[in-house]
Formats: sequence, C-alpha cells, structure tokens
Amino acid sequence: MEELRAFRPAFVSITYGAMGSSRDKSVAWVRRIQALGLTPLAHLTVAGQSREEVAGVLERFVEAGAENLLALRGDPPKGEKVFRPHPQGFRYAAELVAFVRERYGKALSVGGAAYPEGHPESESLEADLRHFKAKVEAGLDFAITQLFFNNAHYFGFLERARRAGIQIPILPGIMPITSYAQLRRFTEVCGASIPGPLLSKLERYQDDPQAILEIGVEHATRQVAELLQAGVEGVHFYTLNKSPATRMVLESLGFKPA
Ligand SMILES: Cc1cc2nc3c(=O)[nH]c(=O)nc-3n(C[C@H](O)[C@H](O)[C@H](O)COP(=O)(O)OP(=O)(O)OC[C@H]3O[C@@H](n4cnc5c(N)ncnc54)[C@H](O)[C@@H]3O)c2cc1C
Repeated sequence: MEELRAFRPAFVSITYGAMGSSRDKSVAWVRRIQALGLTPLAHLTVAGQSREEVAGVLERFVEAGAENLLALRGDPPKGEKVFRPHPQGFRYAAELVAFVRERYGKALSVGGAAYPEGHPESESLEADLRHFKAKVEAGLDFAITQLFFNNAHYFGFLERARRAGIQIPILPGIMPITSYAQLRRFTEVCGASIPGPLLSKLERYQDDPQAILEIGVEHATRQVAELLQAGVEGVHFYTLNKSPATRMVLESLGFKPA
C-alpha cells in the first residue's frame, strides 16, 4: 500500500477470508487504510455465517468508517464443490445487496462481482447474466469482474450486459501474473481461461521467477492499455499483496507516482 499509494488509487480493496475467518482483521484494515489517506472497499461474504453474524460485521465496518462495500457470496469450503448456505444465512450475494440497501439505504456504496467468462457454477452465460441483472436490480452501484487474460471476454460481457439494460460501471479486474504455480491454482478455482500462446510462454519459463514476472507485466500492460483506450471507467488490480508488478504495469503505461 505504501508503494502504490503514490499512484492515487480510487480505492483499496480488503478481501474477506473464507467463511468469515478474517472479520477482525478486515475491520482493522478499514481503519488503517483510511489512516493512510486512502479509501477502503471492504469485501463481505455470506458463506458460513448467519444473517445475524453478517449484520454484525456490516455494523462494525460502518462504525469503522467504511463507505464502500463489495457484497459477495463466497466459495464453498476447501474440498467441497457445492455451496451450502448457512441454515440462518443468505444463499446469494443479491440477498446481501438487498439487505444492505434495506438497512443503510444509500449511505453505503455497494458493489458486486461479475464474471465475463461466466461463474463456474452457472449452467450458461445467459443464466449467469440473468442472475447478475437481478443482483444489479437489488441495488448494486458498481461491479468488479473476475480476473481475465483476454480482453475479448470483458468486451463481450460488457456488450451483453448493456444490451440487457445494465447501466452500472463494470470495472475490469486485471491480475499481473507473478507466479506460474499461483496462476494455475487461481484459474482452477475461478475458471478464468489463459490464452494458448500466453500459457505456452509461461510453461516454458515456469522455473524462472524473473521471466514470469516480465511476461506477466507485459501481458497486463497490454490488457490495461487496450481497456483504457476503449474508455473503461477504471481498472481493478488484483495485487495479491504484491506491489512491484502493479507498479511496473502503471509505470509502463506512463502513470507517474506523486
Ligand atoms: C471482484 C471479486 C472479489 C472477490 N472477493 C472475494 C473475497 O474477498 N473473499 C472471498 O471469499 N471470495 C471473494 N470472491 C470470490 C466469490 O466469493 C466467488 O466467486 C463466489 O463463488 C461467488 O460469489 P458472488 O458474490 O459472485 O455470488 P452470487 O452473485 O451469489 O453468484 C453465485 C452463483 O449463483 C448463481 N445465482 C445467483 N443468483 C441465483 C438465483 N437466484 N438462482 C440460481 N442461481 C443464482 C450465479 O449465477 C453464480 O453461479 C471475489 C470475486 C470477485 C469477482
């Protein structure tokens, strides 16, 4: 954060640990990020928690000064394929969005997740878009996409969303690749595809961390340049707590730290 702060990010997102495991840390980070003069975006998932527990975390976020929330469902626990809602909990992120709107009105800005290549559990892109639209109608102000490595997926999704009457900003999520092993783990869970030529290059250099970083930065730079040229409202970087790759992408694009 210290390093990327100089590029004046619009917000810094705080991921929420699986099954509510990070709630104390998340609340503490809302305060720390504000103390650095930055704007926090607190993620909140409903997995493994009752409505009451979720409401409690939400209240703590607001007390800590959070004004922006990313409302999410969360993934099933490790080793399980099917999401099972908590018996007294929410089933879909859209229910959390509606709950937040009911409690806080417009006092909180609420975002949600979008999936250019479809969410791994959805039966089709059409069904996923229908569910996304319902989530937007429940009260989303903006959305951030799952990471993708081929901009065509984002542009296609954006076109389908606009055609379906969805007007909110949909920020593309970009992850500069820094590790081959981590990339494979991640894409297995989230379902993002890796273009063939990029994958071959990464496979060739998988044991050379410096080469992987260079390939990752070059690819992300090309993606972001094209997205900016197409007029996107902003880009969300999945930094995964590593600042150098994102800094290198920003510098390659000509952004100067303050
Ligand atoms: C930008 C971003 C940030 C994230 N941050 C975190 C984080 O901090 N912590 C974390 O644990 N996870 C995080 N995730 C991962 C997220 O929790 C998973 O992708 C999860 O599997 C889905 O969450 P969601 O909010 O998109 O769920 P939902 O919007 O509820 O969708 C989940 C699935 O249900 C389907 N669906 C929705 N509504 C209905 C309906 N009415 N009927 C039938 N099917 C329906 C959807 O099509 C989809 O397949 C993040 C993901 C993204 C893209």
